[in-house]
Amino acid sequence: MAEVPYISNTVNLQKYLQLDQRGAVILEYVWIDASGGTRSKCKTVKEKPTSVKDLAEWNFDGSSTGQAPGDNSDVYLRPVAMYPDPFRLGDNLLVLCETWMSDGKPNAYNFRHDAAVHMEKNASEEFWFGLEQEYTLLDAFGWPYGWPKNGFPAPQGPYYCGNGTGKVFCRDIVEAHYKACLFAGLEISGTNAEVMPAQWEYQIGPCTGINLGDHMWMSRFILHRVAEEFGAKVTFNPKPIPGDWNGAGLHSNVSTKLMREDGGMKHIEKAMESLAKRHKEHMKVYGEGNEARMTGAHETASYDKFTWGIANRAASVRVNRACADEGKGYFEDRRPASNADPYQITGMIVETLCGKIDG
Ligand code: ADP
Ligand code: MN
Ligand code: MN
Ligand code: MN
Ligand code: MN
Repeated sequence: MAEVPYISNTVNLQKYLQLDQRGAVILEYVWIDASGGTRSKCKTVKEKPTSVKDLAEWNFDGSSTGQAPGDNSDVYLRPVAMYPDPFRLGDNLLVLCETWMSDGKPNAYNFRHDAAVHMEKNASEEFWFGLEQEYTLLDAFGWPYGWPKNGFPAPQGPYYCGNGTGKVFCRDIVEAHYKACLFAGLEISGTNAEVMPAQWEYQIGPCTGINLGDHMWMSRFILHRVAEEFGAKVTFNPKPIPGDWNGAGLHSNVSTKLMREDGGMKHIEKAMESLAKRHKEHMKVYGEGNEARMTGAHETASYDKFTWGIANRAASVRVNRACADEGKGYFEDRRPASNADPYQITGMIVETLCGKIDG
């Protein structure tokens, strides 16, 4: 039996959202779980925090999320960033947290810590990242939203950047998510309908260093929460529908200060040499199930081999035409799958371009 869809009554909800909180502030603590999802819980504080330093450490039951054993289940939540809450409005905040264990080590799913060390160590490189998050919206039965119940829509072609009934599905969710991200102060730089119907993309960036991962994870949390209100499910599965349907990626655009300056192309070429040498290591953190997506068809490269080229959408890394013409700019690593962790992607890129860090 498929579950019965529950559509929340947002009209009734409005009445309560407007109630005065009498000076109290609600903090929604958000963290990343063991399966690449987000979890959150909230608490009341009496004073409005003005910076992350004002936010107390908290904890949760890691045995209930597969993040800790039952006999040592406390996982600590350490606030690292805060954003205006687009769901509760007012002074309420979303609080992004790292997860830590009682022995003073990062939780096994805390990939931010390591990435932040790389970003800090190489701050003088002034890394900018811009990631293109593709995702698919499913109905309550797990089938792409708007697709015929026991069948398939017409072949791909009319859907990418499409307008009109039957060409796009769930634009309301996409618009709501876009505005909610802007309200939260996230660097969301655009959105577009994708090649497969019910598949969409938005871009986060350019952001400096660790901020990219922070903004990307908070935008994912917001997407899940918005879709929940509309009775849709978000999947980041890199190949949600097998066959002649596009997969979903997380194209990662990268530049350093030197790449953005005159003569930057030679630094991009140097980066390509470094990336080629560590292709396997990158693929290990570029998402689960990415083999099904990276077939060499549907605007992807082969899974096993590193290639790069100007304006080439079938290469592992594409350098855009404008960049090649101007001799400076950024490159696009097209390998990461939609479900990859942005901290792991950006951390690995910095490690490959700048070298490992001891300890
Ligand atoms: P595509 O043509 O591959 O669809 P998009 O327009 O979707 O590209 O995304 C391009 C991304 O590149 C945006 O997220 C943008 O923020 C990012 N970007 C632009 N300039 C730079 C730069 N110099 N360094 C890193 N990222 C950049
Ligand atoms: Mn309890
Ligand atoms: Mn794009
Ligand atoms: Mn795309
Ligand atoms: Mn792209």
